[in-house]
Amino acid sequence: MAIVKAKKPHVLVVPFPVQGHVRPLMKLSRQIAKHGIKVTFVSIQTIHEKLLAAAKLSKDEEKVDLEEDNIVMTSIPDGRRPEDDPNDSFILLESLRDSMPRSLTDLIEMINSSNPDEKISCVIMDVTIEWLSETAEKMGAEPVIFMPASGAGLTMLRHLGRLVDDGSLDSNGSIIRGEKISVWDDIPAWRVNELTWSIPFDLTTQKIFFDCALRIEKTINRIKWLLGNTFYQLEPAACDLNPNFLPIGPLLEMNRSKSSSSIHPEDTSCLSWLDEKPYGSVVYVSFGSLAVFSQQQLDELALGLELSGRPFLWVVRPDLANGSRAEFPDGFLERVNSLGIGKIVDWAPQERVLSHTSIACFVSHCGWNSTLEGLSNGVPFLCWPYFSDQYHNQNYICDQWKIGLRIVPDENGIRSRGEIKTKIEMLFSNDNMKANALKLKELAEESVNEGGSSYKNFEIFIEHLIK
Ligand code: UDP
Repeated sequence: MAIVKAKKPHVLVVPFPVQGHVRPLMKLSRQIAKHGIKVTFVSIQTIHEKLLAAAKLSKDEEKVDLEEDNIVMTSIPDGRRPEDDPNDSFILLESLRDSMPRSLTDLIEMINSSNPDEKISCVIMDVTIEWLSETAEKMGAEPVIFMPASGAGLTMLRHLGRLVDDGSLDSNGSIIRGEKISVWDDIPAWRVNELTWSIPFDLTTQKIFFDCALRIEKTINRIKWLLGNTFYQLEPAACDLNPNFLPIGPLLEMNRSKSSSSIHPEDTSCLSWLDEKPYGSVVYVSFGSLAVFSQQQLDELALGLELSGRPFLWVVRPDLANGSRAEFPDGFLERVNSLGIGKIVDWAPQERVLSHTSIACFVSHCGWNSTLEGLSNGVPFLCWPYFSDQYHNQNYICDQWKIGLRIVPDENGIRSRGEIKTKIEMLFSNDNMKANALKLKELAEESVNEGGSSYKNFEIFIEHLIK
């Protein structure tokens, strides 16, 4: 079918159903909608319900309204059968692949027939579900791929075929020769087990991920529009190496005190707690939406924070202890509460926390969203990657941008209380890291302000949508 030139543009946005992918696409949707373009945001049913529930439950003075001017929130089934394990992400992936092309086709047909003046003209999809580009094309809509991770990650994806052909990677995606793999001098190398698909203890699953990556490579090489949540000045080499790539980030919510697009309710009581803390004094600790730890590791972290003697705000998700609620060492909560040095929440309004003047540093798993949010607020990092691209983001943070330090595990894979305390002290006494982080904050602001690189790229995209 030929690409629809609709009377009015209408963009369908489809995220991959996890927090770190839903959120940047929601922010992008808002930016598009601000230009008077209608956006339909499609989530699978479970995410849709979580978004609505979180918006209602967020412990905020003002309730969040997810349906805003020009944005319609809607849902499609995830294709799972009642007997499927709801926590099995492979079943979810498989069922999405099976069911989404059909359910999205039905949705587009329904939208197009109910309002012929506002037919779907463009489908923006997460890179993980790039196979929807064919569905979009079949329905006469322009497919646009959104990369929620770094430009470096995109560059690696683009080189995969070559790396397999020249014998650098085997068919499971493991590094064959040497200790690391590099695609360009100005992009940090990936060490063994730092590749996005690396699961060294489960090569069968790794192969499934690697095959997905090879499929993505084909799509990003043929697709015309590829948007990314990064900015040129942050990753110039990666941006230059991807000719069809428009970096439009960092996508932030900073000035939107009411919006959240979170799939968990935010506990905003930590903001008033932060108000009482001195400038640049608080250690913020958060590992995103997916990382989990052993109880032993959580004990070490709790005691390391306490040993540091610094005030801390710690996000302890209800599933952080390998899927269960974390327990705290004996007397820990009483001690930190009585001294007023610790605040623990299930889920924080992270961007508002990071922009708070009391924050000194960010103990982070280095998810790409968290990385961008930290550096856009001039906050230095203590890196504690968990999986996937987080190791490479750590390399960027520590080796290239020099805005953070690694918290290093011991020979048993545990980050000890002593190591945690030492790294907190080292970061507090290092003015260079803070200065570097503030420089990046300035560059991030410049890129999204009028005339900046991401601002201009976004304008190019909007003009294309409306012409
Ligand atoms: N986040 C949040 N509150 C929290 C923890 C995380 O709002 O208490 C948000 C954070 O701001 C970021 C996203 O959740 O936008 C996490 O994405 P990231 O890529 O950092 O990590 P992932 O969850 O994908 O591992």
